[in-house]
Amino acid sequence: MDTETTITSRSRIYPLIALRGICVFPGMRLIFDVDRDDAMGALDAAMAADQTLFLVAQRDAAAETVTGADSLFKIGTICRIHQVLRVPDEEGAKVMVEGVSRGYLERLTGTKPYFTAQVELVETEVNPRTAVKAEALIRQCYGLLEKYAQNSGLDLGDVLRDILPSTDAGYVADYVTQNIYMRHEQKQLVLEELRPMRRLALVNRLIRWELDILDVEQSIHEEAAKRMKQVQREMFLREQLRTIQAELGEDEGYGDDTEEYRAAVAKADLPKEVADKLFKEIGRLAKQPFGSAESAVIRSYLDICLEIPWKTETEDDLDTAAVRAALDADHFGLEKIKERVVEYLAVRKLAPEQKGSILCLLGPPGTGKTSIALSIARAMGRKLCRISLGGIHDEAEIRGHRKTYVGAMPGRIMAGIQQAGSRNPVMVLDEIDKLGSDYRGDPSAALLEALDPEQNSQFRDHFLELPFDLSDVFFITTANAADTIPPALLDRMEVVEFAGYTDEEKLAIAKDHLLPKQRKKHGLNGNQLRINDGAMREIIARYTRESGVRKLEQRIAEICRKTAAGIVAGQFKSKYLRAGSLEELLGPAKYKDAKSGGDAEVGLVHGLAWTRVGGEMLDAEVGVMDGSGKLELTGNLGDVMKESARAALTYIRAHAAALGVDPAFYKNKDIHIHFPEGAVPKDGPSAGVTICTGLVSALANVPVRQDVAMTGEITLLGRVLPIGGLREKTMAALRAGIHTVIIPAENEPDLNEIDQTVRAALNFITASRVDTVLDAALCREKTDDQN
Ligand code: ADP
Repeated sequence: MDTETTITSRSRIYPLIALRGICVFPGMRLIFDVDRDDAMGALDAAMAADQTLFLVAQRDAAAETVTGADSLFKIGTICRIHQVLRVPDEEGAKVMVEGVSRGYLERLTGTKPYFTAQVELVETEVNPRTAVKAEALIRQCYGLLEKYAQNSGLDLGDVLRDILPSTDAGYVADYVTQNIYMRHEQKQLVLEELRPMRRLALVNRLIRWELDILDVEQSIHEEAAKRMKQVQREMFLREQLRTIQAELGEDEGYGDDTEEYRAAVAKADLPKEVADKLFKEIGRLAKQPFGSAESAVIRSYLDICLEIPWKTETEDDLDTAAVRAALDADHFGLEKIKERVVEYLAVRKLAPEQKGSILCLLGPPGTGKTSIALSIARAMGRKLCRISLGGIHDEAEIRGHRKTYVGAMPGRIMAGIQQAGSRNPVMVLDEIDKLGSDYRGDPSAALLEALDPEQNSQFRDHFLELPFDLSDVFFITTANAADTIPPALLDRMEVVEFAGYTDEEKLAIAKDHLLPKQRKKHGLNGNQLRINDGAMREIIARYTRESGVRKLEQRIAEICRKTAAGIVAGQFKSKYLRAGSLEELLGPAKYKDAKSGGDAEVGLVHGLAWTRVGGEMLDAEVGVMDGSGKLELTGNLGDVMKESARAALTYIRAHAAALGVDPAFYKNKDIHIHFPEGAVPKDGPSAGVTICTGLVSALANVPVRQDVAMTGEITLLGRVLPIGGLREKTMAALRAGIHTVIIPAENEPDLNEIDQTVRAALNFITASRVDTVLDAALCREKTDDQN
């Protein structure tokens, strides 16, 4: 061997053993197993020579064989063999070595039958100039190790004791590395660091890293322990609770209620899909720990599902004559809707599989929409549920919250069904025109699904998570105006319009329905309170002004209340009210008939408007003063109304002379048009003729007849165009004591639609041009030259 290499004083050839996953540090002892043939050969050769060999780690600890110098690390350890222990009858041996010095593998000099290598001895010396720094590093290392021992629970007392007196940073680094847990790759890094200070600094860093890992391990451990403790505590408490309840005899309903639920589901006549789902939930309930929040959620879900009438239904009373009689008994008039219900029943009789329809009762408040819907349910022998949609913004209100929500409930539709207790009730959806929609979803989309006969046989509530067949529900919605109903919804519904009542109709309703109803409510009989027709008419005309009869009913209730109080107080035994005797109970009249009889006035014109609450008389006032041609419009007017005013003004300028108006008025006069009751927004074109009449009256200083009211759109050229809502407007005119109503000529056919009593009571003038309107409304002195 010696012959083939030139050897420097610090470099020589050693037998080599490749180590897998371990390394030896100088000054340290290590025991390891040798079993590969080549390693045994190296061992034998070393024993035969000076018992020294070179141990170096393989780069890939898993590799079976060494393929060349590249597969080994460059830095290894020159070791002295202390002991070789051979086990009899077995190949291989246990070897105890002690590191002598680091060695640098220069090259492999032989590979067969064992490896030999030329290795340079690497010696590191202690440099006295760096003693202070070394001391600092050693102390730091000591501190870290102490902490490491504490956190890991390892006994490192010997190691700590040994490093304290040392002044050799390199040695301390090696010693510590050999004795604590560290990955093999990290140990090799320490071995390869030849500069002692840096080596110890590296070791300190590695210990710190280990400490961090211990910290994280510790907190994971603590967290898990805490959770375990919590669970055990809860279980313990629940067991205690159960025992206490058993002692008190209160334990029924707990524990075994899954069996009760199973029995209830089996007993209830449920669709298969529903029963399956409920059994599944009961299975989940059985697995829940006693008294847990989740089990409460499942219980309330099961309770609600069991209360839903999945199959329970009522049988319709299909005797159309009887139903009609019942409807007639409850409500006066309302022919259209009564007929519609009778038709519905007739169709059901002939084609029972025909699915329900959706009615939309549209009209001013107090016209009996809700109350007839309730009566329909009664007459048909159906259950009833009533849902008010006004102001609902949230889709979940209609369709429910998922049951994972805290306090989740079914939506209003399914809650209504549950409360009705039958799967085919009459469902009244009030105020469908006041439905809102915002970021929480669009409730009309959910409603659409409920109302659409195409899809409502599979209506899904978020809470129930089960489809419910709504197709046999008779939906009736109510609304004051169609324009705010979402169009998609309006499309699905059949609209039945409710008009306002005339005074005669109100009288009949009050006598036959409202008074008997209120008397009964207040415990009065027919002798204790009587109201004759004259008095009733006075209530209608002077204490209320409305399209419906809601206020009228309130006034009658007020009379009943006061009568009851008087009787109880012994002031009188009975009350008989005639015309002129109402002030005692109702106070002074709120409305006067004065308008009709009043003197003609300049600049004051009665217009007629149609609003959500029915027809109304709407006055226009026009004031003219010297100025510079400014036009002012007040009274909360919309754009369309303002444009009407400008059109009227232009017409007057163009025909100033013929109208008896100073042609220069637009330069030397200021005009102010005002509509009183400024809190009420007003818009629409139908006040055109009213404004024009007011302007001419004020500019020409001609008074306007106060028993005349008018409605009609006006164009620049003075044509009068038709308007809507004639029926309601004429009723309002009659209510206000008007005698003559001017309407657009094109609306003449609509006169057939209006109530006959109204028609008979009013004098109608039809106008196709604004001249006709002015002639009829203005009190001009007739002069000879006018024709
Ligand atoms: P709406 O729903 O149209 O606002 P309601 O149904 O609440 O009106 O009616 C108000 C009151 O007037 C109810 O007490 C109702 O019974 C009564 N009413 C309305 N119209 C009639 C009628 N044609 N016959 C008998 N009572 C009526």
